Amino acid sequence: MRFLVLGGAGYIGSHFVKQALAKGNEVIVIDNLQTGHKDALNAKAIFYQGDIRDKSFLKAVFSNHKIDVCVHFAANSLVGESMEKPLLYFDNNVYGTIVLLDTMLEFGVKRIVFSSSAAVYGIQKEMPITESALTTPANPYGESKLMMEKIMKWSDVAQGMRYVSLRYFNVAGAASDASIGEDHRPETHLIPIVLQVPLGKRENVTIYGNDYDSPDGTCVRDYIHIDDLIRAHLLAADYLIGDNPSDIFNLGSQSGYTNLEILQVARKVTGHPIPMQFGPRRKGDPDKLVASNKKAGEILGWRPENDLETIIGSAWAYHRSHPQGYKE
Ligand code: UDP
Repeated sequence: MRFLVLGGAGYIGSHFVKQALAKGNEVIVIDNLQTGHKDALNAKAIFYQGDIRDKSFLKAVFSNHKIDVCVHFAANSLVGESMEKPLLYFDNNVYGTIVLLDTMLEFGVKRIVFSSSAAVYGIQKEMPITESALTTPANPYGESKLMMEKIMKWSDVAQGMRYVSLRYFNVAGAASDASIGEDHRPETHLIPIVLQVPLGKRENVTIYGNDYDSPDGTCVRDYIHIDDLIRAHLLAADYLIGDNPSDIFNLGSQSGYTNLEILQVARKVTGHPIPMQFGPRRKGDPDKLVASNKKAGEILGWRPENDLETIIGSAWAYHRSHPQGYKE
């Protein structure tokens, strides 16, 4: 299969590129390197540096390659930042997707695997969350992902753009050979931040909020190993190639862990005491997000295989071997 991967130099995109190539696919990558890293890119991928909002650039890439499936990771993805700069999120994420879909249609490419998020659900009472739950995003990031899903839905109704939208819960960990991993600058995600303490890069961790509706008062999240997550994308691509209808799937483990439980597992994995303190709540954070993964199991045949200790262990192996992250 020939994939065009939008945002292929980012954390999730680069792991997709690695797995897709390892399975014998051809991979073309577009990334503006705003948050992605050139060093994260597999040398076997064909790389174009540019922005998905740049229509003439996209057209040039589509003219050079006959694409079977687009896999779309190119987006801003930080909840906190989206609360400060909502327009950035609507511009890059929503407008970028419109330009991409328009170009795809122009070139007759009508299959897309889309990187969505549990952030589309916002605050929910019922756990685990199923795909049919009412979507009520609690921040502009989640709102932008929901808008992108709706845009794809109507492009399908009107023009036959078939999509699989994958709503990720909390993705963490690194490739099993520790060759690539998570390197955000600045880092805002809990697991890599926690690991910065045993790496000697910070003194302690601040846990945002301890008065949430959860067993220990800290937020509950559902963590999924990056390799499990990527496997679902390859299954989704096969599903689209198999002429199946557009659909939406949660990708999560169906188990929730509090922020304090994450800290405990990280202490066990690293053997470091990892001191912590509580800070104020972070704006836009829902108290609990736990996925039902039944639908992805039934329709895509996908099941996560790695537990939390393996997830944190693989992240630790990457960070220990790349204490400064990627070179550039
Ligand atoms: N979190 C925290 N301290 C940090 C970073 C994150 O307490 O330094 C919390 C955050 O408030 C949330 C959870 O960890 O409750 C997961 O946040 P993350 O940014 O990793 O992922 P998100 O759930 O926002 O996608």
